[in-house]
Amino acid sequence: NANRTVGVEKNLWVEFTQLAAAYNTVNLGQGFPDFSPPKFVTEAFCNAVSGGALMHQYTRGFVSGFICQRAVPISNILVTVGAYQALFSAFQALIDEGDEVIIIEPFFDCYQPMVMMAGGKPVYIPLRPVIEGGAVRSSGDWVLCPDELASKFTPRTKAIVINTPNNPIGKVYKTEELQMIADLCVKHDVLCISDEVYEWLTYDGAKHVKIASLPGMWERTITIGSGGKTFSATGWKVGWAISSGHIIKHMKTIHQNTVYHCATPAQEAVAQGFEREHELFGTPESYFQQLPAMLHRKRDKLASLLESVGLTPIMPEGGYFMTADFSSLKVDYKDQSSSDEPNDFRFVKWLIKTKGLATIPVSAFYSPEHSKDFEKYIRFCFVKEDSTLDAAADILRKWS
Ligand code: PMP
Ligand code: GLN
Repeated sequence: NANRTVGVEKNLWVEFTQLAAAYNTVNLGQGFPDFSPPKFVTEAFCNAVSGGALMHQYTRGFVSGFICQRAVPISNILVTVGAYQALFSAFQALIDEGDEVIIIEPFFDCYQPMVMMAGGKPVYIPLRPVIEGGAVRSSGDWVLCPDELASKFTPRTKAIVINTPNNPIGKVYKTEELQMIADLCVKHDVLCISDEVYEWLTYDGAKHVKIASLPGMWERTITIGSGGKTFSATGWKVGWAISSGHIIKHMKTIHQNTVYHCATPAQEAVAQGFEREHELFGTPESYFQQLPAMLHRKRDKLASLLESVGLTPIMPEGGYFMTADFSSLKVDYKDQSSSDEPNDFRFVKWLIKTKGLATIPVSAFYSPEHSKDFEKYIRFCFVKEDSTLDAAADILRKWS
């Protein structure tokens, strides 16, 4: 086997998706909606499939009729097989052997193996909870220390990866926080890979800001999005990367020599979804208003449930997930699984195997050097039918 496969064999989703299925759980683990996508995109997909012969054939590698931001010329957009492939193409196109890539913890787990497969060296910096009055209540309380971040930039730093709204804690970076990151990128001539797959999902008035819109950042930012997250159709695997010409051209080189392009009808349906949203933008019929409103309600429902059973949730400002501290629970979960695993892994496995509820351990979103400090959190996905959340509530109430 090639060296690039070494050290990246373990995969959180493979392990926990299998476990969740094997024990027939109520699944608040992996992040996907258990409800249908909106009719306008499923109809667009059906029309594409039952439409002309060309909808079933190769399409152009880079463009399609895809529209995600009218302000951006189509040549600056690369359509990819989900946000995953946009991330992969970015690392392959831009990172060389020995380049350092700064990753902010907790991070969506695939950044680490993708940087390593490109020959890069991940450099980690954790968001730290600022504790006021003893309780950490919002993802907004998790912040970067500016001096610590500055200390991570070296002459070898090639890029920083940010994720807003963040998976797993739901932090939505404020303009001042993004400006602090942007200043360092400009000062050290560093690229910014900005994973914004949950960009439409913010709550309580939190505002999503694109770091690419800050002065000096368009030329050095790769903005990544997901049609799956945008239209609740994660299985379609349509994503995109947006960047300036001198960057996107290298990503196109990787793309044309790997997958070439992603499924034609799925691209067509996502493109039509965006056309509709463009027309309805800012109106109550817009899915970009309806989905966050629905998820806001589900978020609050899950938070009060978790509190009522003695867990301490961190209220997410955006995204699909809520993390909660389980350290004050008085349950004996430790003898169920092997003692060499982190506490949160043991707790989640106990929950799955003995209680039939699937969640995700949060230390998996940390590097080995920092994971020990974050073993007391688990992640719940709340993009679920109310009946699924109620079934989870029944389980939690029974044993807590
Ligand atoms: N980035 C983040 C932060 C994610 O949570 C996910 C999972 N949806 C992805 C990227 C991958 O997205 P996609 O399903 O479009 O490949
Ligand atoms: N992004 C989703 C999550 O964090 C799914 C990840 C995956 O299946 N690889 O749960």
